[in-house]
Amino acid sequence: MSLIWHDKPVILGGNPILEEPVSIARPTLPEIKKVQDEFCQIYHSGMVTNSNYVQRFEERVADYLGVKEAVCVSSCTSGLMLVIRALELTGEVIIPSFTFFASGHALLWNNLKPVFVDCLPSTYNLNHNIINEHITPDTSAIMAVHIFGNPVEIESIQSIANDNNLKVIIDSAHAIGTRYKGRLVGSFGDAEVFCLSPTKVLTAIEGGIITTNDPVLAKRLRIGRDYGNSGNYDCEFLGLSARMEEFNALIGLKGLEDIEEIVAKRSRLVNVYQENICQIPGISFQQIDAGNASSYKDLGIIINRDDFGLDRDQLAYALDIEGIATKKYFHPPLHQQKLYSRYQQHPLPATEYVSNNILCLPLYSHMEEKIVMDICHAIWRIYRYREEITRISSDRM
Ligand SMILES: *Cc1c(COP(=O)(O)O)cnc(C)c1O
Repeated sequence: MSLIWHDKPVILGGNPILEEPVSIARPTLPEIKKVQDEFCQIYHSGMVTNSNYVQRFEERVADYLGVKEAVCVSSCTSGLMLVIRALELTGEVIIPSFTFFASGHALLWNNLKPVFVDCLPSTYNLNHNIINEHITPDTSAIMAVHIFGNPVEIESIQSIANDNNLKVIIDSAHAIGTRYKGRLVGSFGDAEVFCLSPTKVLTAIEGGIITTNDPVLAKRLRIGRDYGNSGNYDCEFLGLSARMEEFNALIGLKGLEDIEEIVAKRSRLVNVYQENICQIPGISFQQIDAGNASSYKDLGIIINRDDFGLDRDQLAYALDIEGIATKKYFHPPLHQQKLYSRYQQHPLPATEYVSNNILCLPLYSHMEEKIVMDICHAIWRIYRYREEITRISSDRM
C-alpha cells in the first residue's frame, strides 16, 4: 500500500489530498429529530433545570456503568471541585502533570497542593510504580486520569491508597465507554467524574457526571451542586451553583443510546490509522494494556525525531498546510505552566518526553474511514520527503 504513496506533500508544491480541511474533533450529536419534540416539551413545561430528564439521565448512566449512583453537574471541573470538597480532602494530592489543567484546577480551587508524579512513556498514564515515593504525612488523595480514554492501572492505585488511607478520585473526562480488565470504568475509586463537553466521546453539549458507589457521598454531591443547601437554607457546606439543565440531560440521554457503537467506531478508526502508519519509523502509539479497552477520546502518537526525520512541530506544520488539524495535547504539561510551575518538586522526564513529542490526530465518531486513509497518505508523503522538508522548513517554522 505504501508503495503508491510517492507524491509530493503540499508543503513542497504537491496537490492536496483532502477536498476540505479536517478538524481535530467534532461533536457527535444525536439526530435533531430524536430530540426536537422533547426539547419543546421541556421548554414549555417550566421545568428546565435539574428535574426529570436529569434524574433519568442519572439512572441510565448508573445502569450502563454498573455503579450505584450518578450525579449530573454543570461540568467535569465543577464535579471534581465538588467531590474534593465533599470528601473534605486536605494537604497534598498526587496528580499526573501530563493531564488537562482542569484536573489541577479542581485542587487549587480547594486550596490543595498538587504533587506531580511522572507518567509512563508507553501508556501516558500516571506511573503507579512511583506513587509511593511521593506520599507524605500530608497526602490525602490520589487523583488519577484515564488519559485519552486509556484506563489507569486502577488496582495498583487503589491498593496503594488502601495501604496509606488515601482517597482515590478519577478524572474520567475522556473515559466513558473505557474498560479496565473488561469492566466499564465508572465504579472505581471513591468517585469518578466524566465530562460531556463537545469534544468528548459522549456530549450533552456541556456537563459532567460524577459516579460513585457511596450513597452518602452522592447525597452530599446533590446538595453540593445546589450551593450546599439541603433545603432549609442553612448550607451544610460550601457548595457550588452547578446543576445540569434539562436540555443537556436530554441530549446526553439520546447520545448514551449509541455509546457502544460510538466507542466501537472510534476503535475501528484508530485501527485504520495504526495499520497504515505503524510501519513508518519514529511513530509510536499509546499502549493500551491487554484486557483493557480505550474509549479513544483522542489518538495521540509520539514522533521520535531521530527515526522519523522531522520533529513533532515540523510534522504538525506540514499537516496543517495539507488542511489537517492536529493538537499538541498536553503541551505544556501542568508543571511547566505559569499557574503550576511553583508546585514542581521532582524531575518529570517521561512527562516532558511525551509532552514534547506527542501529536493528536483528527478523530471523531462520525468520521469516514476514507478521511483517515487520506491523513495516513499525507503522513506517508511527508515522511518520504522529510529531507526536503527539513531543508525548506528551517526558515519557515
Ligand atoms: C475536558 C476535561 C476536563 C474538563 O471538563 P469540563 O466539563 O470542560 O469542565 C477535565 N479533565 C480532563 C482530563 C479533560 O480533558
